[in-house]
Amino acid sequence: MADKFSKILVIEDERKISSFIKRGLIDSGYSVDVAFTGEEALEKVEDGYNLILLDLMLPDMDGFDICAKIRKLKIQTPILMLTARNSIEDKIKGLDIGADDYLTKPFAIGELLSRIKALLRRSPSIIDGIISVGELTLNTKTYEVYRGNKQIELSQKEFSILEYLMVNEGVVLTRTMIEDHAWDYEFEGFSNVVDVYIRMLRKKIDDGYKDKIIKTVRGVGYKVKG
Ligand code: CA
Repeated sequence: MADKFSKILVIEDERKISSFIKRGLIDSGYSVDVAFTGEEALEKVEDGYNLILLDLMLPDMDGFDICAKIRKLKIQTPILMLTARNSIEDKIKGLDIGADDYLTKPFAIGELLSRIKALLRRSPSIIDGIISVGELTLNTKTYEVYRGNKQIELSQKEFSILEYLMVNEGVVLTRTMIEDHAWDYEFEGFSNVVDVYIRMLRKKIDDGYKDKIIKTVRGVGYKVKG
């Protein structure tokens, strides 16, 4: 993986934390810029970074606003949010407005590095339209899904949700994100429809297997991991 030469933008006003992060990233071979304010961050974001690390608490701007602005500029760079402890609502809100993952403060540098690696690796290995996660493969051209040698029959909706999860392997998707993805009209279904579909998918994909591919991230959403 060529992520060693990736450029990372760290948006964090607390100098102690930002220099701790910067040192850790540079030691791992990344190139790093730091922005201490939201304004500075928005000036820099278009400079072709491979990843953005965004603290939610900044002096001049709300981290959520920065995240929304970055996405409005059509910049698709992965964003890893740094959030305060135990704020599930913040995490969900952040993911819903376009962040890709979150890390709760305080964190160990090793944890940060592994999250960064996962996000940089994220463009999944799609070869000939086939996405794989562990022993699960999904063919975006033929609509065939296999776990190992066993073929799995999915409805169109189940397929769409599974594809979305697999393209984002290792990344938590909120219920709202899944809804927005799988239902493109103004959604007025019952509120736990995503959970219902996930349950059906689990039955077809994970039942009878020791290693479960679909994981629940408590209070936040779902992800798949091989
Ligand atoms: Ca801060």
